[in-house]
Amino acid sequence: MTQHFDYDLMVIGAGSGGVRAARKSAEMGARVAVVEEAALGGTCVNVGCIPKKLYVYASEYAAAWREAEGFGWRAEGVSFDWETLRDNKTKEIARLNAIYGRLLEAPGVEIIEGHGRLTGAQTVAVGDKTYRAEKILLATGTWPALPDIPGIELALTSNEIFDLPRFPERLLIIGGGYIATEFASIFSGLGANVVQSYRGDLFLRGFDHDVRQFLAEEMRKAGVDLRFNHHVTALESGASGSITAHLSDGEAVFDAVLCATGRRPNIGQLGLEHTAVSLSDSGYLVVNEHFQTAEPSIYALGDMTGGWELTPVAIGEAMAFSQTQFGGQPQSMDYGCIPTAVFSQPPIGTVGLTEEAAEAAGHRITVYQSTFRPLKHTVSGCDERTLMKLIVDADTDRVLGAHMVGTDAGEICQGLGIALKMGATKADFDRTVGIHPTAAEEFVTMRTPRS
Ligand code: FAD
Ligand code: NDP
Repeated sequence: MTQHFDYDLMVIGAGSGGVRAARKSAEMGARVAVVEEAALGGTCVNVGCIPKKLYVYASEYAAAWREAEGFGWRAEGVSFDWETLRDNKTKEIARLNAIYGRLLEAPGVEIIEGHGRLTGAQTVAVGDKTYRAEKILLATGTWPALPDIPGIELALTSNEIFDLPRFPERLLIIGGGYIATEFASIFSGLGANVVQSYRGDLFLRGFDHDVRQFLAEEMRKAGVDLRFNHHVTALESGASGSITAHLSDGEAVFDAVLCATGRRPNIGQLGLEHTAVSLSDSGYLVVNEHFQTAEPSIYALGDMTGGWELTPVAIGEAMAFSQTQFGGQPQSMDYGCIPTAVFSQPPIGTVGLTEEAAEAAGHRITVYQSTFRPLKHTVSGCDERTLMKLIVDADTDRVLGAHMVGTDAGEICQGLGIALKMGATKADFDRTVGIHPTAAEEFVTMRTPRS
């Protein structure tokens, strides 16, 4: 390190990407500080993946109790207590925050609490102190974006929904992306009456069309009131803390409204104007393959650079960044075949190209598709079905995409991600022996192309 710098690397934001980059760089011998204005772990740990998945688990019990009866169990007097779930979640997040602190401190990362602001290409101000760093990494994530609807200030975002003082019996959700869809299933599963309002023809734009349609049918069967080509035009305070929503098909009263209409980079008061860092037309930070911005000493990664806004992607980028800057081995992130899941009920698991994207890319494709009632539901009384779909390149036999809607789709598609990453062909799938009886075996037993 050159003497006049306080640190080799200063990271702003201790979320998924920032924590990993700080830790790894320190383990490689760099003198590192990380600045965080809220809780360690960022969005994923505090108001994202982890509390969300805990709530998904909570919401699955209602159906499990009902289904248990078909298997001979009697579950009398079952009830749900929101406060217990909320408070147990909060305790678990506090435990994780402490673990993140220890993970940073072990390799010697200095944690600076407060809002980090760039004052130049190699200087960061936090409160009334200014630090000099040879390299600065921005990993400040994104923040919910609210549409311009009268009364939108009455709506909650995913930042607040986890900690509601009271359970919302009537919930309106605006949006048709990951967050809106996951919370529609969570709150419906927990017993709320949920209306999910999406402005387009079919939610989850970008996912395979059959997957989107299939999930819509299953969620409706499970009790979510999905409304497409639907608009919320205004929100107004009603009696006893309720909210009256003006909708394209009338007016209705809710206990809470969740707005999940996308997110924007967290760059407020970040001081970008004191640097040459540039933004794309959609407002994300522009970086090269080594995460370097237009200001050579400043780097950025994770959600604030756009693309795949997922925790494992932010972590992968952080690993590549540290290896390149302090490990002596330049690395870039491989964005091919990234598996992802939507934790709806039933969940989606997917990796590789959708049918529409494969066609648009000019592949001649063969599609294998199967829908079935899982074995468990032949006795549980539940009428939920499962969808599996493989997109195969007809010329090379390579499997281009694997998609599923059904129990454990995320768990199953993680493994398929390895196969697709290795370039598996349909013949490889066919010569793989299934595990019987599972739903997953269907992926290796589909023999007849869809007509
Ligand atoms: P973040 O994790 O957002 O971290 C940014 C950090 O920077 C924050 O701690 C913030 O407080 C801090 N910060 C911002 N500005 C400053 C400043 N000026 N000074 C100091 N600190 C600052 N991804 C998945 O892979 N799976 C999931 O199941 C999943 N579920 C999600 C559910 C929800 C409700 C949400 C909102 C997101 C979910 N995500 C999920 C996405 C995932 O959380 C993000 O992709 C991931 O957190 C991005 O990491 P990051 O490091 O880019 O930013
Ligand atoms: P998304 O981008 O996934 O979805 C935003 C939704 O809001 C879209 O349906 C969009 O519609 C709609 N929308 C946008 N603007 C408006 C508007 N002005 N009025 C009405 N509707 C609007 O964002 P999310 O907020 O759901 O999630 C952010 C990101 O977080 C995700 O993209 C994902 O990367 C990550 N995430 C990952 C999860 C996981 O891995 N399981 C879970 C949760 C989040 P349209 O499609 O028509 O543009």
